[in-house]
Parts: sequence; structure tokens; C-alpha cells
Amino acid sequence: MKRYITKSPAKTRALARNIAENPKRPRPTQGATVLGLIGDLGAGKTTFIKSFIRSMGVKKRITSPTFLILRRFAINNKIFKNIFHVDAYRIKDEKDLRGINIRDVLKEPSNIVLVEWADRIKKVLPKETIWVKFKYGKERDEREITID
Ligand code: ADP
Ligand code: MG
Repeated sequence: MKRYITKSPAKTRALARNIAENPKRPRPTQGATVLGLIGDLGAGKTTFIKSFIRSMGVKKRITSPTFLILRRFAINNKIFKNIFHVDAYRIKDEKDLRGINIRDVLKEPSNIVLVEWADRIKKVLPKETIWVKFKYGKERDEREITID
């Protein structure tokens, strides 16, 4: 487990960029690579994800998938062909996912999937999910980010 303290949104974006530039696939052939982001409202999950998606070469405007729940961006990466941003904020639990093809998305090894409020849909996520936890720090612009 790695623990980071960031003291500005820019530092959180830089951390996301570092990870995106050298992505690791925990299970090479079994399905998508998933980063599950957890933390209170305003803790920095969206800030992190937008930088991550941008760093994977997505040029177009990255709007949040609040109503769509799931957004896909095609990417030119050595390992991945698509990056998905899932926002489970409006979801109570896995049952609310009916009609959303998340299971198919999670089957495809060339997908990397970043999930906000990932704890709400934990049951459908692979056990190899990389958990990224966000916490408020002591100062206003301080955040503690742990990655396991
Ligand atoms: P979430 O998606 O977790 O609700 P957002 O990324 O949308 O959070 O919002 C984080 C807010 O906190 C933004 O307004 C951002 O400018 C601010 N912020 C202050 N310090 C930091 C930091 N160190 N890392 C990330 N965001 C920060
Ligand atoms: Mg958010």
C-alpha cells in the first residue's frame, strides 16, 4: 500500500498522471483493469480521474458521467484501447446497475475502468481492483490518497 499527501489539486493531478503514464494490469488476461475510488464528496476523485484520462491521451472535453453513469473514451495505449469513467454517485447498490453494461465492460482486458464511489458497486468489481482512497487532510487543500 502506498500513501501520498497532496497539497493542491495540481499535485493530485500530477499523481494521477504518474500512474497513468505507467499503467499496470493486475490480471493480464482475465478482464478489465479497475481502479476503485473511494472518499467523501469533494475529496478529489473527479480531479484525479480527469487528469488520469487526459494523461492517457484523450483530447476531447472530459465531462463527468453523472447522469450517464458510464462514459467511454477511446485511447491509443500500449495496453489499453478504452478508458471508462464510471460514477456510481447516484447508485444505491449493484441492483441499480440493471441496464448498464458494466459487466461486459469489466470482461474486456483492453479496458481500463475508473470508478467513483466504487464501494457502492463493490460486488460487481473484480477482486484485483486497485483501491484508491481519498481523505481530507489537516489543511484546506490537503488530501491523503492511499493506493493498494
Ligand atoms: P470528488 O469527485 O471526490 O467529489 P472533486 O475532485 O470533484 O471531488 O473535487 C475536489 C475539490 O477539492 C475541488 O474543488 C478541488 O479544487 C479541491 N481540492 C483542494 N485541494 C485538493 C487536493 N489536494 N486534491 C484534489 N482536490 C483538491
Ligand atoms: Mg466526483
